[in-house]
Amino acid sequence: MLTKDTAICIRAIDYSETSQIVTFFTRATGKISAIAKGSKRPKSAFDGPIEIFSHGKIVFSDSNKEKLATLTEFEQQPGLIGLRNNLFALNCRLFGTELLNSLTHDYDPHPELFDSFLQFLQNINESQVTSYESRATSHELSLLILFQLSLLREIGLMPILNACANCKTRYSAGRRMAERRATSNEFYFSSSANGLVCRDCEASFPDKIRLTKNAANCLVNVKMIAESQEKTLNEIERILISHFTELLGHRPKMAKYILVNSS
Ligand SMILES: [Zn+2]
Repeated sequence: MLTKDTAICIRAIDYSETSQIVTFFTRATGKISAIAKGSKRPKSAFDGPIEIFSHGKIVFSDSNKEKLATLTEFEQQPGLIGLRNNLFALNCRLFGTELLNSLTHDYDPHPELFDSFLQFLQNINESQVTSYESRATSHELSLLILFQLSLLREIGLMPILNACANCKTRYSAGRRMAERRATSNEFYFSSSANGLVCRDCEASFPDKIRLTKNAANCLVNVKMIAESQEKTLNEIERILISHFTELLGHRPKMAKYILVNSS
């Protein structure tokens, strides 16, 4: 049976002189792995060899989900592959892709996650054209953080960020709502609590990480992330990396390329 879908390539490895095994994140089917026979031949049904981040319409046969699907058509759209001169932007994309690949299952569709992943890749591409050198890193980091949060949301693992994850005391952006604790500016994040924890609860969570007020504000109100300073973004990214490390049971491979500039 042939299936048509819209897809983004998240992995491509050589299988033989002329063929590749590719992993696609598709909009309607979820993640699939397929053999692309003859993809490296000059004339193929796939518009040339398939590279990571290439995207477009695909047709594949998946007669048996235990085996590799067979890619029969790939109509590649232009625009997402070129990332000249910007290693950090490339690393952000590769990191987002690694997390997506690790945290989704084959044949488990997440159309909204597909849309936000495509948007993330496109926004990083555009940021290279529009942003000034000095703002570029912050901008790319903020796009990565927003994608990481939408990934967590779409797979049902969003941490609790609007209240203490333990006692449920609510936070609002910039300030804590609980009057009796209003003088405290202490915020913590704990993976084991799955979210922010307040000062009264932090002692129960040995893995907690103390947050600056700026970072806590951004987590409570994610709209602030796009406008944040690099220092705050690095702090948030460090927290997300430690959270993903907990979720995956190992540190993501690309993590070390993302926080290189932070002190
Ligand atoms: Zn609490």
